[in-house]
Amino acid sequence: MIGYIHQIQSLGTVDGPGVRFTVFLKGCNLKCKCCHNPDTWELSGATEYTPEQIIEKLTNYREYFGDEGGITFSGGEPLLQSDFVYEVFQLCKEIGINTCLDTSGSVINDSVKKLLSVTDRVLLDIKYTSDSLYLDNVGCSMYSVLDFLKELQKNNIPTTLRQVIIPTLNDTKENILKLKKIKENHPCVDTVELLPFRKICQVKYDKMGISFPFSDIPEPDQKTMDFLSELL
Ligand code: SF4
Repeated sequence: MIGYIHQIQSLGTVDGPGVRFTVFLKGCNLKCKCCHNPDTWELSGATEYTPEQIIEKLTNYREYFGDEGGITFSGGEPLLQSDFVYEVFQLCKEIGINTCLDTSGSVINDSVKKLLSVTDRVLLDIKYTSDSLYLDNVGCSMYSVLDFLKELQKNNIPTTLRQVIIPTLNDTKENILKLKKIKENHPCVDTVELLPFRKICQVKYDKMGISFPFSDIPEPDQKTMDFLSELL
């Protein structure tokens, strides 16, 4: 079994509980206009790893994980390589390491369901609370993401909902109240995080010679972020 890896971040603190060993996979089924990692979209340029090689690398950092930390798979879209991620998580379970998925939640099939059986936490990037915004700016239906969330609820997997706040698109009271409703309807969701839209990824688009669709959208100010967080 081979995994196609974009990059490994040995010790991170933003991709799940505690200190994380985060593996960014190559390949994505979506084309979000706000994407920060366009360099992960294609499989080309991937580094190949076996599950055992990931575990070997990870164990060098184990002492930093403490009670909460562990491994996170991000992307790209980790659900596209769910058989590989399953193998890694299975090995992690055998040695008592916490497992976490950072996903857009747009894929649900038998392999993904099997992967969820060895997943301790999911960070679900719910990009908007409107189907038309999803169709226009992400490239999938919001309902496929809600179906994925239903599966998380069915399996009672602790879930963090994450949303990037993008001025003119989802920086509204209406959106936050809908997000709150989604949380209330899914008790597996124990945390909601609002993250400010940032344009630091512009350099990646420039380097790739493609245009960043949201280059004209301003970053949200702190006052807006505070107001929306307060609503939650
Ligand atoms: S799902 Fe993630 S990696 Fe894929 S296009 Fe959207 S933001 Fe980018």
